[in-house]
Amino acid sequence: MRTLIAAPWHWVRSWPLWQAPRHVVAFVLMVEAVAIAAATGTAFLMPVRTSDLIYAGMLTAGAWLHIEGVRPTERQRERGAGAGPYLDTKAVWSVAGALILPPLLASALVVVTYTIAWLRIWPRQRPLNLFRWVFSCATVLLGTQAAIAVLALGLPSYPGLPRPTWAGFADLAVIAAAFCLRWLLNYGLVVTAILISAPNTRLSKVLENFHEQSQEVGAYAFGLLAAALAVTSPPLLLAVVVGVVTVHRGLLLHQFRTAARTDAKTGFYTLDWWYQEARRALERAKVHDATLAVLIADLDHFKQVNDTYGHIGGDRALEAVAKALQTEVRDYDIVGRWGGEEFIALLIDVDEERTRAIAERIRERIRSLTVALDEDDDPVVIGNLSISIGAALIPHDSSDTIDEAIRAADAALYAVKAAGRNRVKLTHLVPQQAGPATA
Ligand code: GH3
Ligand code: MG
Ligand code: MG
Repeated sequence: MRTLIAAPWHWVRSWPLWQAPRHVVAFVLMVEAVAIAAATGTAFLMPVRTSDLIYAGMLTAGAWLHIEGVRPTERQRERGAGAGPYLDTKAVWSVAGALILPPLLASALVVVTYTIAWLRIWPRQRPLNLFRWVFSCATVLLGTQAAIAVLALGLPSYPGLPRPTWAGFADLAVIAAAFCLRWLLNYGLVVTAILISAPNTRLSKVLENFHEQSQEVGAYAFGLLAAALAVTSPPLLLAVVVGVVTVHRGLLLHQFRTAARTDAKTGFYTLDWWYQEARRALERAKVHDATLAVLIADLDHFKQVNDTYGHIGGDRALEAVAKALQTEVRDYDIVGRWGGEEFIALLIDVDEERTRAIAERIRERIRSLTVALDEDDDPVVIGNLSISIGAALIPHDSSDTIDEAIRAADAALYAVKAAGRNRVKLTHLVPQQAGPATA
């Protein structure tokens, strides 16, 4: 902020936006220019009355309270955000504004809510993400103009609530169309921006959080309620604020749940979650008479990989191993990170031959694995990377627990390490008093 005052030109030049490829900068600036032009074009179509100013003030206050209520949630969400567009519950206020305020104030409300959010949510990192906020704000501004156009053409009472008669249901259809258009423009522009700025991102990855967008519809519905209450019973707007803040906090639940289950480095289940899933699978297997197998895999002499390529190189190798392992098991097998460079997998509905085949496939795959040690480097073959695997079958008629199978697989792994590594050893679980027998 000091640079902004002392040397505005340097500040502008320091924006991360300029480091993006030219076509991305052009797209972002074009969207922003069109948004400003459209908002200016609609601004003076309707006069602003005193009552409009009062409604605008109430909606701004609601937005501000909402943002204050969700500050910690928003910071958490942004940290764990996926590749796709970000769900914006602030839409409650701009949707209400588009319905009951004249265009000038409706547009101003969008800019004001974005400004409050920018100032209040990221007090320390503000300059870094300003250009993203500006772009997001521009897409909402543009969507709002589209909604305004539909409302102005189709709603006899615009700006204002639907007619309080049967005709009001027809008005509701116009309102729904207006805000569908707003959503489409907004979402489409953000997806386009993501895709052109990171062309290697797969569309499926960008659409990964698509289910969250249904909550955006919920925010629009709250917006209509807020509009009605602002006009008919302003104190009840506080109930809307409480409702939105509560729902908004619930958005984190999905994120936390996924984070608690997955190991960040490999994307596999954490050990705790692996156990829970494995126990459930074992119960199911007993019902369906299916044989399971536990595999424990440990990379050979991995310490040397760290010594040769450094820990970052080691981590990249670990990620590549995890990817390879995932492709060699089936979708319904349950894979977890045991810890360090050790993995554990529960193979579902297998026999001895199948288990051995899967384990051998993993072993061979690791043997010829190529690893990109640096983001810019071409993948290299890490010399002599290999993996040792111990496996234990849990026959469908056994009464063994997961723990017993793990113990047996671990003993098999230990034997492989002692016998020279880079091998697979399979153990059959037999009644406990006899101890594990090996094949
Ligand atoms: P062995 O063939 O007997 O398994 O030899 P090893 O060197 O692989 O020995 P061990 O499995 O006991 O040691 C694991 C080593 O793996 C220790 C540590 O340096 C490395 N390691 C464990 N976790 C990580 C990790 O998350 N990242 C990196 N880079 N290295 C790890
Ligand atoms: Mg090891
Ligand atoms: Mg180890």
